[in-house]
Amino acid sequence: MFLRATAKINLCLDVLRKRPDGYHDVRMVMQMVGMYDRLHLYASKRPESEKGPGRITLSVNLPYIPADENNLAVKAARLLMDEKGVTDDLKIRLGKFIPVAAGLAGGSSDAAMTMIGVNQLFHLGFSDEELMERGKKIGADVPYCIMRGTALSEGIGEILTPLPDLPDCGILLSKPSCPVSTKEVYGNLHVNELSRDDHPDVDRMLEALGRGDLKGICEPGCMSNVLELVTAPNHPEIGELEREMKRLGALNAVMSGSGPTVFGIFKDIDEAERACGEIRRRFPQVRSFATRPVKREEL
Ligand code: ATP
Repeated sequence: MFLRATAKINLCLDVLRKRPDGYHDVRMVMQMVGMYDRLHLYASKRPESEKGPGRITLSVNLPYIPADENNLAVKAARLLMDEKGVTDDLKIRLGKFIPVAAGLAGGSSDAAMTMIGVNQLFHLGFSDEELMERGKKIGADVPYCIMRGTALSEGIGEILTPLPDLPDCGILLSKPSCPVSTKEVYGNLHVNELSRDDHPDVDRMLEALGRGDLKGICEPGCMSNVLELVTAPNHPEIGELEREMKRLGALNAVMSGSGPTVFGIFKDIDEAERACGEIRRRFPQVRSFATRPVKREEL
């Protein structure tokens, strides 16, 4: 079985408070974009003499991605197969294309699509809601990666509301090579010290999405990410990329997730591709890619 795991961006990202359990309550608008990891899943029967829980093996095209039980795709498969007592073996072949630790939820999306695939492959009968409930145990973004499309994400990321599609546009993704740890970024965010203006106006973003108003969606203060206050000062390339994307015609450019990937929204794919060529010339060390938004039903 072949599946594509899609990358996401955060059209806006707000952190409301730190909870007593250490997690943060967030309010963010999520959007799938046309950048994919490739997943192949193969089921095989075990000989009668070797009964026991199904074995899961994974191979991956990048040496620095864990290929054992620490891989989020393996964790996702294990969770479902153990719950239903699957005794067949599963082989996962993962082709990573989504940059790793980039704020694009690559690992979460691999986990989400593995859950969808394993559910079909072994006829486990879970509904999407049941998969989302279980996905939460793997990671906060996994339920959204099962729902996909454009969505409002609240709580720690598990309270999801589908939203009207982002109008068609061009999206330029640029991933600086500096590593960023999501845990550290949240750890260094002091929510109580933020001013009102530091928080994106998520409600205004929701209204603009409702109107299908791309310019309104891209307004500063609306398309914005509170985590940039932590990540950007340590990585000047983030601000440089944003300025350059805007100079090249982006309606706006902000950081996705905890970074360091920056995305720019352009009127159409042609403009995004032109800007991508320029950005590649000016920032050869940065991985850049032009694409479009992906709707829920496209997947
Ligand atoms: P998010 O946007 O949710 O913060 P991210 O883009 O920052 O996600 P990922 O690419 O999902 O981060 O990977 C984070 C870490 O998870 C990596 O350091 C990697 O070692 C580990 N990991 C486990 N499984 C996977 C996987 N299938 N793909 C990528 N990374 C994985």
